[in-house]
Amino acid sequence: MIKDIVEKVVGDDSLIRDFAAICDTGGRFAGSCSEQAAREYLSDRLEAATGAVPMHAPVDYLGWSRGDAVLERLDGTGGSLPCVSLVRSPATQEEGLKAELIDVGRGTEQDFAALSAEIEGRIVLVRHEYMFATGTIHRRRKYQWAMDHGAVGFLIACHLPEAGPVTGSSGATPERSIPAAGISAETADALTANGLARIRLSIETDETPRRTANLILDLPGTGPEWVVLSAHIDGHHLAESAMDNATGLAAVLTVAAAMAPYIGRFARGLRVTLFTVEEWALEGSGDYVDGLSETERSAIKLNLNLDSIAGSPNLTALTSEFPKLEEWLLTHVQTHGYTLGTHRPIMANSDHYNFARHGIPAVRLVAGFDEPESEIKYVLTPGDMRDKVAARDLRYAAGLTAALVTGACQAGELELR
Ligand SMILES: [Zn+2]
Repeated sequence: MIKDIVEKVVGDDSLIRDFAAICDTGGRFAGSCSEQAAREYLSDRLEAATGAVPMHAPVDYLGWSRGDAVLERLDGTGGSLPCVSLVRSPATQEEGLKAELIDVGRGTEQDFAALSAEIEGRIVLVRHEYMFATGTIHRRRKYQWAMDHGAVGFLIACHLPEAGPVTGSSGATPERSIPAAGISAETADALTANGLARIRLSIETDETPRRTANLILDLPGTGPEWVVLSAHIDGHHLAESAMDNATGLAAVLTVAAAMAPYIGRFARGLRVTLFTVEEWALEGSGDYVDGLSETERSAIKLNLNLDSIAGSPNLTALTSEFPKLEEWLLTHVQTHGYTLGTHRPIMANSDHYNFARHGIPAVRLVAGFDEPESEIKYVLTPGDMRDKVAARDLRYAAGLTAALVTGACQAGELELR
């Protein structure tokens, strides 16, 4: 039966059509019309594909939207330079933030320590890096170190030439923040040419309480247990958020459609969860898992989270320090002719983390792990467009997902804790 379901998924052209339609909705920034349009599309498609109606579970959060962002050198060596405020950056005062720039290079903890005496009162410049690799240092850590050393502003430059600016979350909180923006590699060059400049950074934002919704759909099995298949809806405004995460969403739709006719015969049910406000601080999934009772959480035997599953032909499972889960995944994919890399340390880089921190075996599938030259390098830049996704890679990832989810729902016993 697994073979039938996998074949159906791999050959299903609606996978490719759904992927394109999700990209058509735009970048899906949380709180935007694009995010709302995507949620409505996904809700309709889930219903059409499975015959069941998804629940729209409200998520209340502090909304944040961008106004203008302006960056300029104050020494008269050029006009304004392009920049993009990072998510949740505070606004500057109306006249902007004026300070000297200091280049902290890559922005490791050691880089900050070495320049410690010179950072206070300045705007720091660091480099973004490939997101999915063993030694990656996340921008939010660099932002924290900048504040620890007394910086008054934060600029992060894309590490790729001619790829435009980089975006992402800043890690700012209402209690602790400095203005933060992403820039291109070329803008970083312009700012650091002829010695370090005195610059002006001006950021406008709007913060208001907002309500959005996660989509939750239950397809029951014969028993009380569940396998949760998740993906996040929201993305960033610079592109189509195609790899991150139209790929994961399209695969969830296709796998749910293929399993729906069979699920009533399986030992455990399939629960589809499409979360939102993931890109900010995993808020939608945090709300959901925190809101479950202990009994509901223990009934979840596995969370398989799809986030950026095409952009390279190679897939890795981030197994959140559950050794039994890792063993089960590897044995299972091999049986069905798939290959999968694994990375065990827990990574708080997508919605699976909120399941894992509650002790639920949780895994993220991601393409291009430790492959800095794969198309995945364009995630969070204007390059995250549908042309980066090869249809065969998306079909492969969806087929592997179908093999895993069907196997997990069908197994007589599934204890991976
Ligand atoms: Zn993502």
